[in-house]
Amino acid sequence: MDYSKCKFQTKAVHCGQNPDPTTGAIIPPVYLTATYAQEYPNQHKGYDYTRAGNPNFTQVEEQIAAVEDMKFCTVMASGLSCMTALCALACTKHKRVGVFESLYGGTHRLLTRVFNDMGIELSKVKANDYDGLSKLVSNHRIDVFVFESPTNPLLEVIDIQKVTDTIRNSQSKECVIVLDNTFATSVHQSYGHMVDVVWHSNTKFMGGHSDLISGSVCMNDKTLKERMDFYRMAMGMNASPFDCWLLSRSIKTLGIRVDRQSANALTIANFLNDHKRVKRVIYMGLKSHPDHELAKRQMINGFGSIISVEFDLDLQQTMTLISSFTIITLAESLGAVESLVDHPASMTHASISKEVRDEIGLSDGLVRFSIGIEDVEDLKDDITEALKTYE
Ligand SMILES: *Cc1c(COP(=O)(O)O)cnc(C)c1O
Repeated sequence: MDYSKCKFQTKAVHCGQNPDPTTGAIIPPVYLTATYAQEYPNQHKGYDYTRAGNPNFTQVEEQIAAVEDMKFCTVMASGLSCMTALCALACTKHKRVGVFESLYGGTHRLLTRVFNDMGIELSKVKANDYDGLSKLVSNHRIDVFVFESPTNPLLEVIDIQKVTDTIRNSQSKECVIVLDNTFATSVHQSYGHMVDVVWHSNTKFMGGHSDLISGSVCMNDKTLKERMDFYRMAMGMNASPFDCWLLSRSIKTLGIRVDRQSANALTIANFLNDHKRVKRVIYMGLKSHPDHELAKRQMINGFGSIISVEFDLDLQQTMTLISSFTIITLAESLGAVESLVDHPASMTHASISKEVRDEIGLSDGLVRFSIGIEDVEDLKDDITEALKTYE
């Protein structure tokens, strides 16, 4: 069946998910196998060893490529294994990776503390500084340029068209442009026609149930797809078939989960905005957000479910507050059906000094919420109750 003319939610449910031909089982089985019987040396049914391929990889790749509106997808063990494969690609060329600052911490750590030692030069440009980007890509041959929009945790919106225009008009025009679409997902942001690679940590919204670690890259170029498959196999970065099976289950509800999460988030953002112990709410859906107009132009169906909030509280009070919710769980990660809260100053960004944190806007009172699909009234009550101590 060809679903290419169908809309998002139909593709999400059906692509790569044909009933099992041997039994009619409506859900394709999980292929927990490391190897495959061959009839004669090298005569097999398309799979020879699971590090190189597995039917569950193929199925979820078809599904992810369909929802991302791109031709190919390679699924890997984690979001960061995808970045590892992209760095391996840069190793074959000029060994230069460029990024916008305010990257996910794990991506930054991989580039500065692993690949830097392996000879890959990292060039950083301030987010949305197009003069800086233009200089960088004109003065150097950049192999891979990576950026996220919106950024974490300050939710700056990057102008995707400007990034691609700036790079394509430079001597780095062959640079592989990578959009980390983990925060927005294709529900809110679909730019596979403009960038070379759309990258996801499937651990977040794509998986959506906090029960798997996985990553994927989507692309339209067949040679690039073959490279990514090769690196996955050669470097041992394959996902587990069971995780891919779970991921296929999850992607079927991606649209309805993310819709509900974003609607809840808008309600919570407005509610927090009116609270007297709140100094500032950072959410692209609010008119007060400096990138609100760009977000409205660039994003579709809402603004996502990540909200950063600066409370009028000191470090100790903030840490106590976020430990005292009963529904919202204090934990790293984001994007799942349950609401989570994270404190950048003491958790994800604790390795950065207080001076630098203050300079880049990560104050002690800054908290990041990932809003889930719970009843929004219960979430509001949870926050109201916890804030009562400070009234
Ligand atoms: C979590 C995350 C990653 C890394 O993905 P893992 O699955 O944890 O390896 C990359 N980018 C962003 C924006 C993330 O949130």
